Amino acid sequence: MATLAVINACKLSSHALQTCFNGRSALQRVCDFAQNLCGTGKILVLSEAELPVPAGICLQLVQDPTMAAILQACADFAQPQVGTDALVYLQADAPFYDQVLCDSLLELHHKYRSEYTFADGYPPGYAPELLHPRILTSLVQLAGRNNIASDRDGLFTVLQKDINSYDIETILAPRDLRSYRFSPVCDSRRNLQAALSLWKLNKISAQDCVDWLPEHPELLRTLPAFLWVQITEACAQNCSYCPYPQMVGDPRLLSASMPLDQFGRLMDEAASACDELAVDVSLWGEPSLHPDFAGIAGRVLQHPHVTLLIETSGLGWDLDLVRSLMNKWSKRIHWIVSLDSSDEGMYQKLRGDGLAEARDFAEYMSRSWPEQTHIQAVRMQDNEENLENFYRGWTKTTEKVIIQKYDSFAGSLPDRQVADLSPLERMPCRHLARDMAVLLDGTVPLCKHALQRQNGKLVYPERLANVFIEGFSASWQRLEAAWQAHCTRAYPEICEKCDEYHTFNA
Ligand code: SF4
Repeated sequence: MATLAVINACKLSSHALQTCFNGRSALQRVCDFAQNLCGTGKILVLSEAELPVPAGICLQLVQDPTMAAILQACADFAQPQVGTDALVYLQADAPFYDQVLCDSLLELHHKYRSEYTFADGYPPGYAPELLHPRILTSLVQLAGRNNIASDRDGLFTVLQKDINSYDIETILAPRDLRSYRFSPVCDSRRNLQAALSLWKLNKISAQDCVDWLPEHPELLRTLPAFLWVQITEACAQNCSYCPYPQMVGDPRLLSASMPLDQFGRLMDEAASACDELAVDVSLWGEPSLHPDFAGIAGRVLQHPHVTLLIETSGLGWDLDLVRSLMNKWSKRIHWIVSLDSSDEGMYQKLRGDGLAEARDFAEYMSRSWPEQTHIQAVRMQDNEENLENFYRGWTKTTEKVIIQKYDSFAGSLPDRQVADLSPLERMPCRHLARDMAVLLDGTVPLCKHALQRQNGKLVYPERLANVFIEGFSASWQRLEAAWQAHCTRAYPEICEKCDEYHTFNA
């Protein structure tokens, strides 16, 4: 039986072309892998632009790289190759495809005459996905009906739309590594650093990763993935379960905001250091109350690999401004509208006035930009009884409903949690590995959650840096000592009281 390989190089990052693996790039290593597997004449690279591929490998340009277009190209490529039962689908930015794992997948694929074979539980970039060419026509139709982007999970996303129609086989990793969010592929500066760390250690096989990663959490901290910024101290509500009023008093009476030029310089530094980043402008305060929110959004989104997250009460928005932002950047702005309850009385108790305006805004956003808008409730003892109604009600409008765990902010607020979701075994904090928080004056605390009660007020006891004085990268480095302490299980006292260490923002 013949084997074909298709390498998806659409939307390829320039990091995948850097020759940093003994003079080879990620793309070259993937081509080498495919050539070892299939020989010449059996490999197709799909890309939006010309790429340097070795002789014997066919390059096809794809103008509009949706999954439908990718799968159509796969079908056209496989159609004349009679007797092929495995099409190996690879990503061009993954330098560590594993031959042993691939051989096991092929064996399983052949043995059970599978239509789709994949490995689960490994970080991205070790295992290819295998397709039987006979399902390509139906996959093209399925992808076309659902308009699915050709990103790393695109193929599985297509199959999920009608998963019971296909014969699927899976190899499970000996240890499930998905929760680490470790991604040694060359799609961002952060992930390239992770890949290079493994390369320098000569730990590049899938088995190495299974053995090594859980014992070496230090590999997980490279560059920030998620930046919280407080752009205003004003808030439209004085929520009863939120620590912010206990930090500053009634935030409805406050008005100071981060100046636009200062925020812009922070974004320039952050984008230059990280390249790809998610920026959440809702650390504290209501972003709609910033006097120049259009300017704030523009300073974030002028950097092409940075996305903007807006967590909001849904109050105070100028809909003309929202429409103009979404018309310009819809795919790169994500909204979370915090409602907490659909019941007027409970809403009043938790958040105060404003349910009608907040609900109208949430409905408008969900209908207008369903992929970009999430509706959120924090799950706590107070609203537990209402939560099912909330969930059922909103899922009639949108699939994107978030039930967020209650946060006691390192034990500084009463425990209103309904269920303990902590893992049995504690791990180094994901927030220290991936996030940085910046307050209005540029202060960088240990993290968003590390609050302490002092003289009746909530404060950040540790203020480790100031981005406006020390700069973005130096501030990130100031968090390294706390991360190293976590890696040796020497948790600071404030972290001992916190149960947010296993949660992720990005
Ligand atoms: S354990 Fe909690 S307090 Fe400590 S850094 Fe992580 S999120 Fe912050």
